[in-house]
Amino acid sequence: MSDDLYREYILDHYKNPRNFGRLEHATISHEEGNPLCGDVVGIDILLDKDNNVADVKFHGRGCAISQASASILTEKIKGMNIEQVKAITKDDLLEELGIEVSATRLKCALLSLKVLKAGIYGISTWPDEEEE
Ligand code: ZN
Repeated sequence: MSDDLYREYILDHYKNPRNFGRLEHATISHEEGNPLCGDVVGIDILLDKDNNVADVKFHGRGCAISQASASILTEKIKGMNIEQVKAITKDDLLEELGIEVSATRLKCALLSLKVLKAGIYGISTWPDEEEE
């Protein structure tokens, strides 16, 4: 894709965010902000018994790149096993975004991944049945 198409792709995700909202019975729920830009991203993940991402939603506000990045990331991880999600790198996400991200915008672009990783590593094990 050309740069223009990638920019359109980002704007489309910003204007029409995928998986936007909250999950009531999330296994993982985490939110963080980026004070430099005022961005906020929160991610809710519902894991099934095999630790696959059965559902994921994000919420937040802020600049286009931060929100588009979160939208793109939720699309990417839906259905993935938690181990695959853990293996996603900054470079993977930047590649998905497809545009050249300046140093000042890097924190915006990577906020969603930071939230995702912090949320995942914040949980230890799948809760027992009776705790559901
Ligand atoms: Zn930002």
